[in-house]
Amino acid sequence: MVRAVVGANWGDEGKGKITDMLAQEADIIVRFQGGANAGHTIINNYGKFALHTLPSGVFYNHTTSIIGNGVALDIPVLFKEIQSIVERNVPMPKILVSDRAQIVMSYHKNFDAYEEERLGGRSFGSTKSGIAPFYSDKFAKIGFQVSELFDDALLKEKAARVAEQKNVLLEHLYHKPLIDPKDLYKELTEYRDMVEPYVCDTALFLHNAVREGKNILLEGQLGSLKDPDHGIYPMVTSSSTLAGYGAVGAGIPAYEIQKVITVCKAYSSAVGAGAFVSEIFGEEADELRRRGGDGGEFGATTGRPRRMGWFDCVASKYGCRLQGTTDVAFTVLDVLGYLDEIPVCVGYEIDGEVTTDFPPTYLLERAKPVLKILPGWRSDIRGIKSYEELPENCRNYIEFVEAEIGYPITMVSNGPGREDIIYR
Ligand code: GDP
Repeated sequence: MVRAVVGANWGDEGKGKITDMLAQEADIIVRFQGGANAGHTIINNYGKFALHTLPSGVFYNHTTSIIGNGVALDIPVLFKEIQSIVERNVPMPKILVSDRAQIVMSYHKNFDAYEEERLGGRSFGSTKSGIAPFYSDKFAKIGFQVSELFDDALLKEKAARVAEQKNVLLEHLYHKPLIDPKDLYKELTEYRDMVEPYVCDTALFLHNAVREGKNILLEGQLGSLKDPDHGIYPMVTSSSTLAGYGAVGAGIPAYEIQKVITVCKAYSSAVGAGAFVSEIFGEEADELRRRGGDGGEFGATTGRPRRMGWFDCVASKYGCRLQGTTDVAFTVLDVLGYLDEIPVCVGYEIDGEVTTDFPPTYLLERAKPVLKILPGWRSDIRGIKSYEELPENCRNYIEFVEAEIGYPITMVSNGPGREDIIYR
């Protein structure tokens, strides 16, 4: 069975925790899109980890972790991450890297930073991990595929060709140091030596695994609203964040994805620029940020404070719909226990009309939140194991959200640990 774990919102919904938890019964965990620009935070017996590239299944002995063809593969980051977990006594995980994945080069990161610098105040708030320049090159067909590392003649010729093209931009647009094709070739050969032990045809491996009835988890990064097609374009990421893309980015048939577990956080947070209708500010936001997640809502990659907001039923209903949700995992609910009253965004007012359908960006910029105030439960719900034991107002909050978004909440997460989960 193939299951996808994906985000309904702007990312940081707690997908890492849910994947880590579901990985207990999985054989294979696959990253199918994105790169090292977002991070999953995972807390388990070995400690607390922020993973950027490795799938969240690396902490188990019985799982194989796959970096699929759809990923923006940052080889030095992958290496550092493997080292950093092994150093902390996690057994060496079984990792496979797709021979068709493409490589994030150091110049991609440079171009990312140069472009943000050039845009100044109009920047996208990129994490400068090279993701947008990487995917631009992939689709412009000047990217480096892992398999190409093993064709030396091709590599030399292509390094020269790519340097020539990049240098025009470096010289005339950014006024930055040029790329020497020899350095570029050397970078590629270093990557070859680092990645070689892990490379294989992962789509074939997964094809066989599907046939053998293995349990496969596809792990998404970010969430629906950051999807380049269906999200808040242009304040989006550069690869699809939707479960459907899992088929492409892992190389398995679309019809094999039988369950889509969409992770939805009990309040909102976002990083980077872009419309955020239910956003809150000032002391109200500071307090939620301080109490949020596990140790505050700050970027796992950048440490930046996240933007905060109330739960947004409009955005979440849309986010769940685009994922093709079969199950919602409703996370970080314990954090809201300090509030007397909890506002929830139930509609958008745009030019005097209220809608519950998520609009394209130009209308979203004009939307004002319609809030409904629900009573809080004023207690700590961590440690509770069954749904019936949750305070009544807490259950009402869950059931209200479920009715608004229209997808079944089958899991409620009431703490950062693996065992902090209530099944319904
Ligand atoms: P991801 O990118 O979707 O995996 O999300 P992040 O890792 O950025 O954010 C989730 C944060 O919330 C992490 O610090 C988790 O440890 C934490 N977390 C996940 N689920 C829960 C929960 O139910 N309660 C609390 N308090 N923290 C949680």
